[in-house]
Amino acid sequence: MKALRGIHHVTCISGPAQENLNFYAGVLGMRLVKKSVNQDDPGTYHLFYADADGHPGTDLTFFPWAEMARSRDGYGLSAEVSLSVPPASLVFWSGRLQRNGVAIGAAETRFGEHVLPIVDPHGLRVALVESASSMTRPFTPWPESPVPTEHQIRGLETARMSEATLHITTSFLERALGFHRIGTEKGWHRWGVGSGTSGEYVDVREVRGAPRGAGGTGSIHHIAWRVEDESHQAEVRESVETSGARPTPVIDRFWFKSVYFKEPGGVLFELATDGPGFAVDEDRAQLGESLVLPPWLEQSRVAIEARVPKLTMPWMHKG
Ligand code: ZN
Repeated sequence: MKALRGIHHVTCISGPAQENLNFYAGVLGMRLVKKSVNQDDPGTYHLFYADADGHPGTDLTFFPWAEMARSRDGYGLSAEVSLSVPPASLVFWSGRLQRNGVAIGAAETRFGEHVLPIVDPHGLRVALVESASSMTRPFTPWPESPVPTEHQIRGLETARMSEATLHITTSFLERALGFHRIGTEKGWHRWGVGSGTSGEYVDVREVRGAPRGAGGTGSIHHIAWRVEDESHQAEVRESVETSGARPTPVIDRFWFKSVYFKEPGGVLFELATDGPGFAVDEDRAQLGESLVLPPWLEQSRVAIEARVPKLTMPWMHKG
């Protein structure tokens, strides 16, 4: 089987949409590349933040379900996403985050890289990782970002998953999805695809005696993995099914084609095609400025626009 190409996007659950926009565009300086709605719940936004071009692998997305309960930590849940930043940029980042009143944890080293753990306004754990290997990934800086180009977030680094039984998940990663083991540190087991560098690995740990985790505001909804095209997707989908998971049929998400399944430990995964991408229905220069709906929801545009809150781009604190 052809290897997965790394993380495609990570989708999380947030509180009110405007606060989410203020944080990810206004403080972290990511570009809002698509403002759409949850295709299964069109009264809720789906906001996509990425690099200027929305390259696969740079994209962190949110469902702002303001009325949802907070998530509860435990097994079968992914509760931290990490973002790659350039080497030696954490001094800049910690100053900027402090000035903006962001909750910052103690700096850490993970597998030899400097990491700054932070918490977003709705309780999601986000880690900024000084990642040397992220510097060679496809990346387009966003000139209008409040963050100077040399410090901008380069993409998704990885996500962390907690499991009741480690080997059930890792053997599935290996057998069904072609992951290989990279190493273990402080209870975290790193598994990768391809070169296993920035954006091409996941960290898994076993939590004993913990309750089952519950998704909610502040947790990851799903982790999407990149497949090259629809035939690659079909190949991986079959491998997932043969390994005992239950993948959905292919769903057309318009900007990519998707298949969803739960890995045996309970975390929701997706296989998403690299194309056609976010520029399929909007001019690159105007990405994210207006509410974009897939063609089958266009007929409900008036009703949808009346239900979702108005959003305004945050005032950008430069530097
Ligand atoms: Zn997704």
